[in-house]
Amino acid sequence: MATPNTTPKHIFVTGGVSSALGKGITAASLGRLLKARGLRVTMQKLDPYINVDPGTMNPFEHGEVFVTDDGGETDLDLGHYERFIDENLERGSSVTSGQIWLSVINKERRGDYLGKTVQVVPHITNEIKERIRALADEDVDVVITEVGGTVGDIEGLPFLEAIRQLRYDVGRDNICYVHVALVPYIAAAGELKTKPTQHSVREIRSIGIQPDVLVLRSDREMDEGIKRKIAMQCDVEFEAVIPAVDSASLYEVPLAMQREGLDRVVVEHLKLDVPEPDLGEWEAMVARIRSARETVRIGVVGKYVELPDAYLSVAEALRHAGIRHGVNVDVTWVSSDDLLELGTEEALRQCHGVLVPGGFGVRGVEGKIAAITVARENDVPFLGLCLGLQCAVIEFARNVAGLGGAHSSEFDPSSPHPVIDLMHSQREVEEKGGTMRLGAYPAKLLEGTKTRAAYDSEVVYERHRHRFEVNNRYRQRLEEAGLQFSGVSPDDRLVEFIELPGHSWFVATQAHPELKSRPNRPHPLFAGFVGAALQRLRETSGQLPVELDEPTVGEVAHAVEVEA
Ligand code: GLN
Repeated sequence: MATPNTTPKHIFVTGGVSSALGKGITAASLGRLLKARGLRVTMQKLDPYINVDPGTMNPFEHGEVFVTDDGGETDLDLGHYERFIDENLERGSSVTSGQIWLSVINKERRGDYLGKTVQVVPHITNEIKERIRALADEDVDVVITEVGGTVGDIEGLPFLEAIRQLRYDVGRDNICYVHVALVPYIAAAGELKTKPTQHSVREIRSIGIQPDVLVLRSDREMDEGIKRKIAMQCDVEFEAVIPAVDSASLYEVPLAMQREGLDRVVVEHLKLDVPEPDLGEWEAMVARIRSARETVRIGVVGKYVELPDAYLSVAEALRHAGIRHGVNVDVTWVSSDDLLELGTEEALRQCHGVLVPGGFGVRGVEGKIAAITVARENDVPFLGLCLGLQCAVIEFARNVAGLGGAHSSEFDPSSPHPVIDLMHSQREVEEKGGTMRLGAYPAKLLEGTKTRAAYDSEVVYERHRHRFEVNNRYRQRLEEAGLQFSGVSPDDRLVEFIELPGHSWFVATQAHPELKSRPNRPHPLFAGFVGAALQRLRETSGQLPVELDEPTVGEVAHAVEVEA
């Protein structure tokens, strides 16, 4: 919606006291609230680490790599942003120190700085400001930028200096600084303590940034006295001290923040003349989450189960599908390393559905394949994502199509049947200097398949991040043995979806559909999968089978979203 405000506004979200305070969720919730007021919102993350992007980082350490439509490998916070503001972001929404320094050093080598001494201020800070302002185009009213890390970290300083300077560049009415801090409860004293917040605000003020809004995380309600004390000590308006008590569900946070007045304080500060937020749809969704009674148990068989953040979007997409069906989804993490030893059947017997997510490296692959055998033979609903599709093809090749020793050439280069291999397209990717098929690609879906019925569309776009593909040399053999290629690239050169006819739900995709699922628009494949799992739950508990409603307009919209 167009607004009378012509200059895009900037909101910066910083964090103090500790990491993991939910700064990303706070930023994303504010985005949702501003969008609900009719504003056009985009979001950005500034990450202080030196990696150019998280693509090379171990998911054990950093969580999942979130991929955008345009193929950016980005921080997982972009997933929160997309899920909350329901907008597709681009690679420019993820900026790292590595990108900034690389760009400045390349410019220096090219002679762009005309013999000047190249310095953190102004060259690095200018480069940062350019990336921030690049998002503030005519299509947006508000850019929300989250600064990663904690105030006081050495590596975050250039980012903070850049956002400090930006106030002079864009004018004070066009910028709002939101600082997220912690108010811990000290059990021995029986009190909430304000000192950590005071110190953190002092730290950010020493850099020259005075927060306009404080969001205070705590595990319990704080009384007015605490708010007043912090307002006075930190020089922030009383109304702009926003308590953020832990919520039962992530998706309740925007509603809680709205009740505390976060969006009101921000729009007043930015002098935005906009209506009250329309949160009807979001409230209905939260009501659905709260009223769920049944619980569907989904076993997610992965390698990085010690750090569930490695599969953050998968877990969220499952929850979205649960919201769609009005049930809770209990995500049971099953380590693919343990599966072979502990007995696969035992580990999976309790699950109503089995999901094998993406991954890299050979470790755990045999465990995933064993899990797929159990799902296939026992009619347990199965969803395979990326490596999950590859494992399903290997399993089928070995155990149904009679291709003994079938494997992916990624894991066994000497396999007699490399049913998963580097395809022609991959050579093209590598010739262009890339290493992976990244970003949104189209697929056309075969009529009469579960995949096509779920999407209710002929052409779909899903995001990719992988190198290997189904080997076309084996397509005919696999098809003859009963595997259905339910979606392929428009030129028919790449397999995008497979399924097993006659099974309750056995669908896999070479893509990462979890990246496009939204709480208010669950992804159709996840909705179909959780629906089948719910059916299994009800059958095994002797209840009536589930009736799937017609897909909602939002769900169908997944299928027709076309990358520009
Ligand atoms: N390792 C596989 C490949 O590169 C799968 C990657 C993934 O699951 N994202 O093709």
